Amino acid sequence: MTSRFVFEYFPVSTFAELSLSPTILKSLQDLGYVTPTPIQKATIPLVNAGRDVLGIAQTGTGKTAAFCLPIIEKLSREKIQSTPSHPRVLILTPTRELAIQIDENIQQYAKNLRITSAVIFGGVSQGRQVTALKKAPHILVATPGRLLDLNNQKLLSLRKVDVFVLDEADRMLDMGFLNDIRKILGLLPSKRHNLFFSATMPKDIQELANSILVNPEKVEVTPQSTTVKMIQQSAMYVEKADKIKLLVHLLQDPALKKVLVFVEMKYLANRVCEALIKAGISAQAIHGNKSQPARQRAISEFASGQVRVLVATDIASRGIDIDGITHVINYELSNILESYVHRIGRTARAGTSGVAISLVSGMEKSYLAAIEKTTGQKIKIEEDHPFHSQDVESARILSVGKAKAALEAQRKGGRTGATSDRRRTFQRKRKPGNSR
Ligand code: AMP
Repeated sequence: MTSRFVFEYFPVSTFAELSLSPTILKSLQDLGYVTPTPIQKATIPLVNAGRDVLGIAQTGTGKTAAFCLPIIEKLSREKIQSTPSHPRVLILTPTRELAIQIDENIQQYAKNLRITSAVIFGGVSQGRQVTALKKAPHILVATPGRLLDLNNQKLLSLRKVDVFVLDEADRMLDMGFLNDIRKILGLLPSKRHNLFFSATMPKDIQELANSILVNPEKVEVTPQSTTVKMIQQSAMYVEKADKIKLLVHLLQDPALKKVLVFVEMKYLANRVCEALIKAGISAQAIHGNKSQPARQRAISEFASGQVRVLVATDIASRGIDIDGITHVINYELSNILESYVHRIGRTARAGTSGVAISLVSGMEKSYLAAIEKTTGQKIKIEEDHPFHSQDVESARILSVGKAKAALEAQRKGGRTGATSDRRRTFQRKRKPGNSR
């Protein structure tokens, strides 16, 4: 496999140089896209040339357009036809939110062309999705469960798929979709064009990629250098019991205009949201227990600015693509280190700057140290706030493994001797079903 980092490519500076048709260029112009992002510069020529691509890139880098634009270009240039319920392109993605966003992007990019798309995902009734499939979309964007379900009901067929895109492969595996992916691969024609995207490339993802891709070109945009560097990052040491007060305090600053707050547990998303509303701050929560329409409503109210704060768990927020998020606040740090990069990448989208603040208590200090090591960046500790905790400041840093075990024990309500846990905390004991 040829491996390329994006800086090895010729310095393409406009979309026109990427052999896109004038109609697509016009749509991009209408969207305000001026310059292709690094992943777009690297990926579009390869897809145009019919190469399989292994793309290592996270959301926020412009990867959706990197694969959608050349696909739309090919469908349009070659006047490829589709028949009812037999899409020609399949884009498989882990979450409903991401599926909807990819579909919206396709409609924007292809708005002046006769290229159509449909989106299918679980959690809602299938009727409208089946109707959309009957209209012979060229491109189908799908989550794995609903795709298999409709296929089993013989309401769609993947036999005519020429291009297969697997998006966010690492999240797919995190969410337990490996078997579903294998089943879906068995439904696709063996000769096809494959594009595979993942933010990270651990061994199991590499193995999956090897089983799908044929002589691929590897394209990599390192998240640390592309996104993280543009984000002003800081952390605040605070007792767990004081986190909500600190959050309300921070939100007194009107510069925090559009704020995405991350928590680890569903119930905490609700509680933080309720506390903010009580403090007179408009907020919505999204997590896995909320219905699909409720999540969509919350996301669109946040996107339109009706609601200032969106409190989310990692999984529910996966793939949220909202422009203009000024601040990401980690109310809690995740014990999955790469989540940090994913989360803060929601601000500073496609070249803008942003701010990320992490509220750190107890064991989370060890996570912070590990994050600094992984990203190779020092995160500034901001002490200039009324809830600075000396105890957290002087807490010992443990290995990530030990910190994880201790924090899990704390979250389950156990005692670890950590100073910050001695007070009554804002967090309740975990109830059954209170996972992410
Ligand atoms: P993605 O990484 O695909 O989630 O894209 C992140 C955001 O960047 C989305 O809001 C896109 O609409 C936007 N975007 C993608 N490519 C460009 C570009 N070349 N110029 C400006 N914005 C872009």
